[in-house]
Amino acid sequence: MARAQSPLSPDLNPCLDTPAERDQLRVVAVVGRPNAGKSTLFNRLIHNRKAVVNASPGVTRDRNFARAAWRGRAFVLVDTGGIDPSETEGIVGHVQRHTRLAIAEADTVIFLFDGREGLNPADTEAVDLLRRSHKPVVFAVNKIDSPKHAANVNDFFSLGIAPLYPLSAAHGLGVSELLDGLTEGWERDSPHHTDPKPALPVAIIGRPNVGKSSLLNRLVGFERSIVAATPGTTRDAVDGLIEWHGRPIRLVDTAGVRRRTRIHEQIEQASVLIALRAVERAEVCLLVIDAEQGMTDQDARLIHYAWDRGRALALVVNKWDLAPPAHKNMARYEASLRQFAVTLPLPIAFVSALTGSRVSSLLPLIEQVSDAHAAQLPTVQLNRCLQAWTEQNPPPSYRGRNPRFFYIVQVSVKPPVIAIYTSAPQVIPRGYGRYLENQLRAHFALTGTPLRLSFRTRRKERRRPDRTAD
Ligand code: GDP
Ligand code: GDP
Repeated sequence: MARAQSPLSPDLNPCLDTPAERDQLRVVAVVGRPNAGKSTLFNRLIHNRKAVVNASPGVTRDRNFARAAWRGRAFVLVDTGGIDPSETEGIVGHVQRHTRLAIAEADTVIFLFDGREGLNPADTEAVDLLRRSHKPVVFAVNKIDSPKHAANVNDFFSLGIAPLYPLSAAHGLGVSELLDGLTEGWERDSPHHTDPKPALPVAIIGRPNVGKSSLLNRLVGFERSIVAATPGTTRDAVDGLIEWHGRPIRLVDTAGVRRRTRIHEQIEQASVLIALRAVERAEVCLLVIDAEQGMTDQDARLIHYAWDRGRALALVVNKWDLAPPAHKNMARYEASLRQFAVTLPLPIAFVSALTGSRVSSLLPLIEQVSDAHAAQLPTVQLNRCLQAWTEQNPPPSYRGRNPRFFYIVQVSVKPPVIAIYTSAPQVIPRGYGRYLENQLRAHFALTGTPLRLSFRTRRKERRRPDRTAD
């Protein structure tokens, strides 16, 4: 067994995320019985850099999710979690439920057996489910730490599965073979349909019961709507198409939002998978919260995930009709959110999907953040601004010398990436980067979009930025 090398690179440059790449990004779920080593494998695959750490014992467990890549093929990896102390269904039921969920919401499944415990009824039932689903799945036997454990794999041959990848998640053995198997044929066989129409893909995301479906139905109700099944996908992605001011808007993963209302008990489990898929397929995300409940850690993680993935974003406070009278003041509510929860420069809207109040304001909001996301800032104006801003407030000197600024130019859109050529990129303090970012945001009305500044030297032609601040 070859030792896993490290071409795993979780840090794909989000700026390179073209719409085509976005449509091809798969969601890969790791499933298996508790203690099989799912979290260990997850951490190894994302290089021990957890995007989301589960730290909420006693409540329904959050999913862990992160981007990963293998030999240039990117994916989102989801650890479907361990057993919740409040669950009463037993291990077989637990594994079945998670497997069903992965079948419904992920593009590909990694099913992990526990090579120390041997075959278990929970495994047999899950394999049956997976077979019937025809979902792409790779099977692996974990905890094969050395040749002397290799015989443990034999147990699982009785299931008639081939190939079966022996590995040791703890020691990194066999992981590269598993990843080769997982990603085989991915370029040739994209599971996602690429929409030929240039409709703006918008995702409505958030925790269960905050009112996403209600909002969606309201939005769709404003205009003639077509709910179109998207053929050629491995799951039944259904997108709602609406048109606003002649601009087509595609509400992605509408089926996910609707389906969840039918399987109520699984809602909490499914919500993150659905949200991740939707973020990947969208350019604009509306993160919905419930006015009564406010922001949770999960909401904050989703916001940061979408932002780091370079999506345009707005926060929607729904159920404003239910806001307690003492807090029913938009300016105060917003100030408190910004003080404690929302540190990113996002617009915040207050609506009630139930009464319809202010829901129509979401359409101009979508347009506003989308325009900022796709903004193309004129070079001449940018350079005039840079000169004025750096003269007004020059950067601190370093070893008696002031960095000089030569030129500023936008190098990418969705989100905007701005290159600033300077005599000494490495000595520009982060705070100064933030100052320039704030100036740019204010001057060019860039709200609700990530904005990346890349300080570069003038002389060398470099392909990668020296430093990116956002
Ligand atoms: P999960 O419940 O499926 O997420 O399992 P964890 O990743 O939490 O692992 C359960 C236990 O198995 C932990 O004590 C791990 O240290 C151990 N474990 C995970 N992978 C391996 C492995 O490759 N070899 C051995 N010997 N133990 C492992
Ligand atoms: P989802 O799980 O996020 O899609 O939430 P739903 O749209 O299914 O809504 C969950 C519950 O909240 C339903 O009973 C809705 O009628 C209710 N609801 C949704 N929006 C509002 C609102 O603005 N005000 C009030 N009072 N209830 C709402």
